[in-house]
Amino acid sequence: MAKDPPDPIAPATRAVIAGRRPEWTGTPDHPAAVVNPPVWRASTHLYPDMAALRGHPGNADGHFFYGRRGAPTQWALAEALTKLEPGAAGTVLYPSGVAAIAGALLAVLRPGDVLLMTDNAYEPSRAMGRGLLKDMGIETRWFDPLDLAAFQAAICPKTRAVLLESPGSLTLEVQDIPALTALARQRGLVSLIDNTWASPLGFPALSHGADIALMSLTKHVGGHSDAMMGSASAGADWYGKLRLRAQGLGLVVSPDDAALMLRGLRTMPLRLERETKSALAVAEWLAARPEVARVLCPMLPGSPGHELWRRDFTGGCGLFSFVLKGGTAAARDALIDGLSLFGIGYSWGGFESLATPVDPAPLRSASAWPLPGMDPADCFGVRLSIGLEDTADLIADLERGLAAWAAGG
Ligand SMILES: *Cc1c(COP(=O)(O)O)cnc(C)c1O
Repeated sequence: MAKDPPDPIAPATRAVIAGRRPEWTGTPDHPAAVVNPPVWRASTHLYPDMAALRGHPGNADGHFFYGRRGAPTQWALAEALTKLEPGAAGTVLYPSGVAAIAGALLAVLRPGDVLLMTDNAYEPSRAMGRGLLKDMGIETRWFDPLDLAAFQAAICPKTRAVLLESPGSLTLEVQDIPALTALARQRGLVSLIDNTWASPLGFPALSHGADIALMSLTKHVGGHSDAMMGSASAGADWYGKLRLRAQGLGLVVSPDDAALMLRGLRTMPLRLERETKSALAVAEWLAARPEVARVLCPMLPGSPGHELWRRDFTGGCGLFSFVLKGGTAAARDALIDGLSLFGIGYSWGGFESLATPVDPAPLRSASAWPLPGMDPADCFGVRLSIGLEDTADLIADLERGLAAWAAGG
């Protein structure tokens, strides 16, 4: 972008222009010569002379120093993500989403601290509480994602931070983030949120009270199931601390992967819009099926926290779960095996649809599953990531899957 953009601009426009600085997409005699920042593969950065080496302007993106601090390809991605997150002063990139969660928690927590974690958090986040953090003398306590009073009661003098995730993994309850972060702030806690599901396009997390917004870029931003990365965006105070901790841990991302993420980011608003529409149509179809006990899709009325989704979110995505009416584990396997347009794999957010079994019960320690009002016999769940295929084709495929379920049950 050679010219400054007008202000204000909508998120979809920002996703197209952000990070394309003239000096990152051209040469001094022809700034902004190409659309995308080239892949700057570099471990060594060179200085024109000793004065330049001695007068290095400091630790910030946009200044060549050494490969571990990145070069224009990574800086462009970090800047683009910062521009998409209202309230962010900067974004730190990590080699995966899990590395972003670990890197941010290690920037915030100290031995002796207590971390509160939502009970529907991504399982590797839970495992971090039981493993990495425990080994460092940090205690993790889980709380019911939908119970504000339980959250408030769980705060003790040693509580330092809260890790939120909304909608939560597998069961997709939407949390009251403005209320939870307000309570956290009153008690001096740092609020971190795993915002992978909505991204800042669907839920600007910092402007809803979070201090640090985390994402697995592997999912929506990459969007093509071919690269892994994570990010943490924050206001000025936390951004500086996150950056120093990530540097201390030696975390870097490759310029090739950053270029893939930038490519994905440009079409993310369009993909999310289409996947949200398609997912809602599939969710509505499933909700009307006699084989289905419950559909857990934030965009669907009746799903836990749907009113909060309507109040706080500006978009959705293609990821949701549904629970079958009774049946067996073998019948559910038959359902998933009976699908031909859905891949079987532990990811989501790509252009292609995926299906995986979900069994949340053993992952919970502070809240009930099945949810109140559900029949305990209805315990076999399926998670769908709806991609960009034709919606009617996906529904026809699920109809075949449900027939296999009925035959296999
Ligand atoms: C996938 C995922 C992550 C981890 O991301 P990776 O890039 O796979 O490490 C974190 N949070 C949520 C909610 C996820 O679904």
